[in-house]
Order: sequence, then structure tokens, then C-alpha cells
Amino acid sequence: MAEIEIDGEKYRLLVDHDLCMGTRVCIARLPGVFTVDDDTNLSSASDDVLDPALIAQIREAIDDCPQEAIRLEKLG
Ligand code: SF4
Repeated sequence: MAEIEIDGEKYRLLVDHDLCMGTRVCIARLPGVFTVDDDTNLSSASDDVLDPALIAQIREAIDDCPQEAIRLEKLG
């Protein structure tokens, strides 16, 4: 689970494993953030605090995920 600060608010970046089909589109958009487990074929976001400059690529990954499995969830 990754965290990112957007406009002073903290969010976590999540992949819903009930929806993910392992298409790896997210890795193409953000190779340093998402990984897909070879055994489960499920994507996860890294445990890092993400650079806010990545927000455009994150939104692209959210929009382009064919399963709508990626979301940003506000913390707090
Ligand atoms: S793009 Fe969506 S469905 Fe494909 S691996 Fe990433 S999270 Fe899973």
C-alpha cells in the first residue's frame, strides 16, 4: 500500500484484489510503483511514500485499469 500527499491531504493507493485480473497495464503506466505477483497474478502498490509529482501517472493508471481495480483513498 502506497501513500501520497495531494493538496495537503494524504491518500493511500490501493488495488482491489477482488477486481484485479493481472493485466499489468498499471505497471506500464507506473513501473516503479506497481508490481504483479507471479503466483497470484494480482497487482499491488509499493509500500513507499510516493512523490506527489507522480499524481498524473497515478490518475492515468486509475483511468486505464481495465478492471477499475485501482483507487486513491483519503486517509484520516
Ligand atoms: S491494470 Fe488493473 S487489472 Fe491490470 S494488473 Fe493493474 S490493477 Fe490489476
